[in-house]
This record gives sequence, C-alpha cells and structure tokens, in this order.
Amino acid sequence: MILSFQLLRRAFWIILCTGNDPFYLVQMDRTYLDWNATAPVWPQAVEAMAQAMRESWGNASSLHEEGRRSAELAQEAREALAEWTQSRAMEWILTSGGTESIHAAIYGSVLARPGKTRIVTSVGEHSCTLGVVGALEKQGCEVVRVGLGSDGAWDPAQVLEAADPSVTAMVSLIWANNETGVVSPVHDLARELKNRRIPFHLDAVQCFGRVPVDLSQIPVGMVSLSAHKFGGPKGIGALFVRQSTAWTRWMQGGNQERARRGGTVNVPGAVGMTAAIKCAKSVDLEDLRRRRDSLERAIRLAIPESFVVGAKAERLPNTICLCLPGCDSSTLLDRLDARGFAVASGSACTTGVAEPSHVLTAMGMSPEEAHASLRISIGHSTKSDSMDRFSPILTQEALAVRGRSIPVQ
Ligand code: PLP
Repeated sequence: MILSFQLLRRAFWIILCTGNDPFYLVQMDRTYLDWNATAPVWPQAVEAMAQAMRESWGNASSLHEEGRRSAELAQEAREALAEWTQSRAMEWILTSGGTESIHAAIYGSVLARPGKTRIVTSVGEHSCTLGVVGALEKQGCEVVRVGLGSDGAWDPAQVLEAADPSVTAMVSLIWANNETGVVSPVHDLARELKNRRIPFHLDAVQCFGRVPVDLSQIPVGMVSLSAHKFGGPKGIGALFVRQSTAWTRWMQGGNQERARRGGTVNVPGAVGMTAAIKCAKSVDLEDLRRRRDSLERAIRLAIPESFVVGAKAERLPNTICLCLPGCDSSTLLDRLDARGFAVASGSACTTGVAEPSHVLTAMGMSPEEAHASLRISIGHSTKSDSMDRFSPILTQEALAVRGRSIPVQ
C-alpha cells in the first residue's frame, strides 16, 4: 500500500516535471552543474563527521576529557586551514559559514575603529555583504560602492580613490564572484591598503578549493570562507583575522574562539571541514579548467549567439556564466532540471517576481540579457560524458524556449 502510494507520487512528479515532454525523456540520473551554490559533500567528510558525532560529542569549551577531545578536533580544523593558506591557526575563527564570517569581518572592523565611518565595497558583492553595509548605512556609516567593469571585475584604482585613510573604517570586497566566476585582482590592492593601515576583508567564499589562497603573499587583514563550497558540510565556515588587524568581536555572549566569537563550536562540522580540506587539496584544477573550457567551446559552437559573461577576465576554473540572448533562463532552468541537469539562472526570485541579477546589470548587461543568463558550475566529480550530453540538450531546450529562433550549427 505504502509502496504503491510512493510509485503514484513518483509518477505524478515525473509528469509534473516533464511538462510537454513524454516521461521517457526524463533522465533520472542527475548531472549536477551548480557547484557554486553548493558542492556535494566528500564521502570522507561524511564518514569523519559521523564518527565525530558518535564519539566526540563533548562541548569543546568543557574542561573534562570529553570536552578536551572536541577542542582538539576543532583545533585540527584551524590548523588545516592555516596549513592550506600559509597562515597561523590562532588567526582562524570557526563560524557558521560565509554569511556569519562576512558579518563578523565588517561589523568587527567598524566597531574597532570608532570615528572612522566609511566602508568601501563594490556593487557586485554577495547579498550578505550588501545587506550588512546597507544596515550600517542606516546607522550612519558612509558606504562607497565601486562599480564593476564590463569584464565583471571591480577596479583597484577606484577602490583606492575611495579609501581615504582619515575616514575609512574598512574595505570589503568579493574576490571571486559567485555568479560570473570573475576573479578580481587583490595582491597589489592589499599591499596598498596595508600601507594606508586600512583593514581589508576579502569574501573568498568561492575561491577555496578553486584558486590557491596563499595568505603569506596577500597582506589582507580578513578572509571569509564557507566549507560547503568545497565539499564540506553546510553550517561551518571560518574567518581569518590577521593578528595585526584592528578588529573586535561583534557577537556577544560566550567566550569561544579565544573570546572572539560566542556560541558552542560545531565540532562535527569542523571535522567535516578538515576532511574536505584534505580532499580539496588533491583536486586537479588545471584538469577542471580544461574540461570547463571544452564544455564552453561545445556550447558556443552549438549556439553561436551565446556568449560567455566575463570571458575576458580571469575566472574561476569551474564556472561558465552564459548568456543565451532571447532565451528566458528561468524557463530554461526548469526544462533542464526536468531533463536531469541542475544549473542556476541569472535571475533571483525574491518577492515572487524574478529580478535580473545585480551583478550582471552592474556589468552593463540589460535586464533582458541578465534574464537570459545561466550559470553552469562544475566540480572535480562532474563526469566528462555527462558534460558531453549536456551541450546538445542545452541547445535543444534553448531552441524550445526561444521558439526555434536560435540558428543551430
Ligand atoms: N559569499 C559568496 C561569494 C557566496 O557565494 C556565498 C554563498 O553563496 C556566501 C558569501 C554566503 O556563504 P554561506 O552560504 O556559507 O552563508
């Protein structure tokens, strides 16, 4: 009885998903092409977490053996982060993820520098940065948002022009953009901001596991990361705060993380992050880039009107932000989903109405072009044969959405 109900439910789901397509066209084996939203968790991380939850459930702040064991595991995560980035374990604060780290970095710098009220950021930030600076603006801070070039990068010269040391509390910028994969240049900017003694925070959430992050070479004050973007669990991340950086805790209550954060440490999450770091180090980034490039070529050949957003800039090796002029990407996303492919679109559905991406419009794209953009992001385990299957199906579905007006070669 229960079984037949489940079968009925599944059949209903298939009919619902396929729309006009006969159900046999539905690929039940899925191809996940949305790694910038989140990456599948490494099996090693799952195993390590399960073991930690069974055996190391003590509170890392407790002084007894159960607590000490948990504290050791949390420390291993900080050490893994430090080794990965050529920094020091004591400079890493475990957090609940990217959003918390970014809040801590920005609020913590502003609180530490009373009298300095300017925050310099860009218009192309992740929504959580835009949210924090927007809230601080209402409380009296002056927020300077530099624009994006047509290549998708912010311009360090514009940042420096706005970063007057007499008034600037801090600078917070996204390093690799989650929508376009565009990587903005940070090294020289970090050096100059250090000379001006202005705390500089990098949202590097999309960088870890995709570009080398060597903090001995980039004199940045703060760096945010999130474990679920490189195959760790959700709900754990970290904030790097260099010892010399003017920063103070923003979250009160509890003296965890050397009194820099309140809240019981997520030990299973930390263990999962440590395991994911070990695995992420072994990913062949050049192979990832080669496979991404070959998918990009195949799509461009099949749909000549399409173009890659930010193609002229340095980009993450796993991301393609593709504009298919005249093709509504939300409809395309649904159709690709029904065919077994998970991608993301260039629109965000906030209040029931699809808004064009603020990043794409900031690059000078029209709202129509933004609505016609799709984000395809791959990872180490994306199979090449699935990627080969994707390009013709994308072409077919784009044709269907556009009413057969895209010439196919
Ligand atoms: N910053 C960037 C660039 C991101 O892509 C994300 C997540 O999508 C975040 C911050 C927020 O991270 P989290 O999901 O861990 O809160």
